[in-house]
Amino acid sequence: MKYISTRSGCSPQSFEDVLLTGLAPDGGLFVPEELPVLTADEIRSYQGLAYPELALKIITPFIGDEIPAGDLRAIIEESYAEFDHPEVAPLTQLAENEWMLELYHGPTLAFKDFALQVLGRLLEHVLTRKDQRVVILGATSGDTGSAALEGCRHSAHVDIFILHPHGRVSDVQRKQMTTVTGNNVFNLAVKGNFDDCQRIVKAAFADQSFLPTDRQLVAVNSINWARILMQIVYYFSAALKLGAPDQAVSFSVPTGNFGDIYAGYLAKGMGLPIERLIVATNKNDILHRFIHNNDYSVTDLSETFSPSMDILVSSNFERYLFDLFDRDGPTLADFMGRFGKQTLCVSEQQWQRVKDCFDSASVDDATTCEVIAEVFQQTGKLLDPHTAVGVKAARDCGGSADTPIIALATAHPAKFSEAITSAGLKTPELPVQLQDLFEREERYSVVANELDEVTSFIKAHCRR
Ligand SMILES: *Cc1c(COP(=O)(O)O)cnc(C)c1O
Repeated sequence: MKYISTRSGCSPQSFEDVLLTGLAPDGGLFVPEELPVLTADEIRSYQGLAYPELALKIITPFIGDEIPAGDLRAIIEESYAEFDHPEVAPLTQLAENEWMLELYHGPTLAFKDFALQVLGRLLEHVLTRKDQRVVILGATSGDTGSAALEGCRHSAHVDIFILHPHGRVSDVQRKQMTTVTGNNVFNLAVKGNFDDCQRIVKAAFADQSFLPTDRQLVAVNSINWARILMQIVYYFSAALKLGAPDQAVSFSVPTGNFGDIYAGYLAKGMGLPIERLIVATNKNDILHRFIHNNDYSVTDLSETFSPSMDILVSSNFERYLFDLFDRDGPTLADFMGRFGKQTLCVSEQQWQRVKDCFDSASVDDATTCEVIAEVFQQTGKLLDPHTAVGVKAARDCGGSADTPIIALATAHPAKFSEAITSAGLKTPELPVQLQDLFEREERYSVVANELDEVTSFIKAHCRR
């Protein structure tokens, strides 16, 4: 399988090349040259497979023979053995025809573990063979940081540096990052906000001359293709449990950077019978305005109870737009070039295609809390605020009566207790394996909001 850039400005790349970079050299994002399409019989033959087996079936066509089958199997099996539920991604019924897909059974209690557990091991595999070492640098507002650190802490060929805004992540989120052990993991608390962290990371990627000569930076944010790839699997897993390919389903997906829902869009393209994909947003509603009103314009950022979705511009949306523009890279590059400077829209015909595939809703904090309280009362199940946005969007958008709708439960409620207590409920307990989190020793360094401080720190701390 080869990968091409959404801006069509570079030659096709291998899976391995794409794994070891972030953005394409022309500023675009990598997408598969062609999507493997499965027949209904093939999909039917996957019914009843254990999660790691299903994952191997789905991802192998995207990797080809770049990673030997036995090695890939070991990577996948080890990654999902870290999860605390035998089904890995269990499906729970909330109401008639309404389900939630629990994606929070990994080591850091959010769906990002599905990809980052695998990504850390894939990197280690490829780097060992190439006898190469890299530095991972990323900025996080919470969930990505802990999942990336956890996924990379055993990698002999990787040093990982994660920036978070000092004093601006929740206590649980900070503890989850700063208590990860390993001599190759480093947390930097930047005296600034999340945007400052992102700006520093971008600048460091643009000029990597501060690194030892044999190193390069690798990105682990959600534009990394391997992350999207691993997320396709649970769409198949959930739909198969409800009778796919002989039963269609819909999904409601709490959305920030459009990575998770883009994986659902790919699953549909591969032949999984998905009727609707519902983009569930909080008050940061650019995608909802686009889908409902054909208005693609930036507004100001709002801070909400679902901070992992407090994103102004969804980077992975470009991957979907590439298809919407019939894979015309130059036209897309022009569109993206005008973005942020003017209000953008697409043609009537393109907009119709958007609406045929997606529906959307925007859910405010007060409603999020109401839904948390309501679902707890009805089912005894506690939703995290991101999941509550997904469930509410599913209810608002509805669907046909005979199509089950599955809301993705993207985080464990104990991670975001502020919304839970605001909903009038008791603070949820952390799962057993994390119950001593607050007693664990924290390790992090506070640095000024300066590129130089960060690059000097990396230079001084990456292993020789
Ligand atoms: C990252 C995250 C999201 C948003 O996922 P995207 O792939 O960025 O759309 C939603 N919920 C939680 C809990 C997250 O950590």
